[in-house]
Amino acid sequence: MKINNCPSCLKPGHKTFCIPCRNKLFGGKNVNPVLLFSKPVYEQIVLEQGGKISISGVQPKHSVRLNGSTLELTEKGGEYIIKPQPKAIVNFAEQVPPNEHLTMQIASQIFKLNAAYNAVVFFGDTFEPCYLTKRFDKNSDGIKYQMEDFTQIAGKTEENEGVEYKYNLSYEEIAGILKEICSAYPVEVEKLFRIIIFNYLVNNGDAHAKNFSMISNTSFKDYLLSPFYDLLNTRIHYPKDAELALNLFKNAYETESYKINAHFLYEDFYQFGLKIGMRKNRVEKFLSDIISEYNEIENLTNNSFLSSDTKKLYLEYIRLNINKLTPR
Ligand SMILES: [Zn+2]
Repeated sequence: MKINNCPSCLKPGHKTFCIPCRNKLFGGKNVNPVLLFSKPVYEQIVLEQGGKISISGVQPKHSVRLNGSTLELTEKGGEYIIKPQPKAIVNFAEQVPPNEHLTMQIASQIFKLNAAYNAVVFFGDTFEPCYLTKRFDKNSDGIKYQMEDFTQIAGKTEENEGVEYKYNLSYEEIAGILKEICSAYPVEVEKLFRIIIFNYLVNNGDAHAKNFSMISNTSFKDYLLSPFYDLLNTRIHYPKDAELALNLFKNAYETESYKINAHFLYEDFYQFGLKIGMRKNRVEKFLSDIISEYNEIENLTNNSFLSSDTKKLYLEYIRLNINKLTPR
């Protein structure tokens, strides 16, 4: 595979990272996206989660740091995490890293969602693509911010709730917890709403309660939603994946629309937005924004490192979901 687009923002005409991406990811250093090391050997992780499969759970992860302007594996003090493709227990396993990269870029570039900085890098010997993300839980001096995911905040563990513990919250309950612990709730709840409808748009069935976190740092006193991470179109890899990882509403509530159609439509998300305390005009605005960017998504997808078959599939699912999110 030849690199013709920036391996982070996908801007055409770049054989390596463009300057803005260099600054964001590597403090301005001219880092080669082709790694000097081979893919680390790892054992297949067998993942049993009571029938639910989490791609973030099956993906091997390794810590990486910058030594000068060279990325190298490290046991401690990594500033980056790399995620090679999982072994072939899912469809198109080799497409998992470019899928996550594209989905994260759509989130940040097109929808202005606060997603962790990320890129595709390549193992030097095989040129196999690998997902790289910059850690956001440490400052430049390596000091860790306080960060907790929503299973930790809600006190849910495998010991007390079994293997499906991270699926035992609804999005409405996550919003409820956010309201309790965050004084900036009116701002943060809009971010939560937008990422939930984004996940629906891109078929991310992996957005369970461990994939949402609150973070604190010294520049603000409050806990806020952390940057988003682990976003990818899971349906490409598991065609039968659920529409959403968690129930939308608490107490197994279903809208009239859902009772009739058995899948989520505009009406479900509209009611959800009102239930979590958002203003009607804001709910309407975000639902209208999420379906209005197809051309930009198509451009970015065509510039991505996905194979041409997977690009087609990715866009086909987006079109289906835009249709479902269109008010009737
Ligand atoms: Zn770039």
